[in-house]
Amino acid sequence: MNDQNLMEKIVSLAKRRGFVFPGSEIYGGLAGTFDYGPYGVMLKENIERLWLQMFRDGRDDMYGVDATILMNPRVWEASGHVSGFSDPLVECEKCKRRFRADHLEDAATCPECGGKLGEARQFNMMFKTHAGAMEDESATVYLRPETAGGIFMNYKNVMDALHPKLPFGIAQIGKAFRNEIAPRDFIFRLRELSQMEVEYFVKPSEWQQAFEEWRRMMHSFAEAIGLPSGMVHELEVGDSDRAHYSKRTIDFEFDYPFGRKELWGLAYRTDFDLSAHEKGSGASLVYLDEETKEKFIPHVIEPSLGVDRTLLAVLASAYREDELGGETRTYLALAPKIAPVKAMVSPLLKNKPELVLKAREVREVFKKVHPAIAWDDNGNIGKRYRRQDEIGTPFCITIDFDTLGENPDLIDTVTLRHRDTGEQERLTIADAAERIREAIS
Ligand code: ATP
Repeated sequence: MNDQNLMEKIVSLAKRRGFVFPGSEIYGGLAGTFDYGPYGVMLKENIERLWLQMFRDGRDDMYGVDATILMNPRVWEASGHVSGFSDPLVECEKCKRRFRADHLEDAATCPECGGKLGEARQFNMMFKTHAGAMEDESATVYLRPETAGGIFMNYKNVMDALHPKLPFGIAQIGKAFRNEIAPRDFIFRLRELSQMEVEYFVKPSEWQQAFEEWRRMMHSFAEAIGLPSGMVHELEVGDSDRAHYSKRTIDFEFDYPFGRKELWGLAYRTDFDLSAHEKGSGASLVYLDEETKEKFIPHVIEPSLGVDRTLLAVLASAYREDELGGETRTYLALAPKIAPVKAMVSPLLKNKPELVLKAREVREVFKKVHPAIAWDDNGNIGKRYRRQDEIGTPFCITIDFDTLGENPDLIDTVTLRHRDTGEQERLTIADAAERIREAIS
């Protein structure tokens, strides 16, 4: 399968099986926007939940916030985004199409029509709107281009309310908006995206240690969501390519079907943000070390993970086609931890009330292990398995006459089918439930 073909198959499966739909599709869509459908939402929430567990809730030094998308515009003046959050834009003099100059192989020629490209100019990527009834400049507000801004706004609040000692961090998941010049590659480059970000505050002398700690955590997270380690690469970003606030950045890149591209970023932001906000707002953001009585502005390590790019990496690395039972099938080899549905329960035959009743009872047992246990009694059993394979359900459980005791040795046993191999085994209901518990824990 060539890579373009693979990408088309992923986009098609995502739509066909209710993972990701183009935004406002019946009106022709809106570039750079996609909606998550029923299974997409479940997958996205599972990814986010795992991130929260690993980056926030599993640690004693992390706190959560949920800040607003609209903020005082001075936040973005101080952070440097009003003057510096821009990409180089070029326009074709012939067809008038616009491109990001740093994404073109030939900076002088239009890749669409071969026309001459004009001079590059900086294009600010923040979306602007107006707060309140006035529509003049004084009412301008921005949709946040990164969730980090809301975290910095709450550094002082968290300090004053909970008095944490350094090092500690604040984590947030939320929407961010970037008016990308050329949104593309499905959910890779969006105009409305979600981020999972941590700002981890440290003593200036301890930044390297914290940087290494979060670097390891990002690899652990990649492993936990099932990304093959051979597809995740670190790129040390050179001085000239780093964001204006960063003294060290590692991009975590992933081998997407369309090439090796940035998945996540890990940045050492120094005291850039807090110092800038102290200067901009006049509020004191210094930290007093109670032991040494030293006063200073904490430095910051930022692991920043895009939810959508993560979900795309998960889909791309899990997509499989193989031959099973003489047929070609498609399945998603999702890690059971993040699979939207953990198991599907079904009666072998739908028109046998005693089988249906027992299967319903068995499903209730599995639902105590995890709520995402599906029910399917449509069509023949092979079709039901194929449907679950396509959404990445790791297990299918079938209730048949032996479960009811037709063969007394097999009473209260079920067949447990494994998604990746199609193999089936006969287990007691309790053992099958234990298998599911083990796989998702
Ligand atoms: P790129 O160079 O690809 O534009 P970036 O370096 O500007 O990305 P950051 O500012 O570091 O990205 O943002 C942090 C993370 O947010 C990225 O690693 C990525 O996962 C995600 N992200 C950034 N821009 C987008 C976007 N337009 N669509 C989807 N996710 C994005």
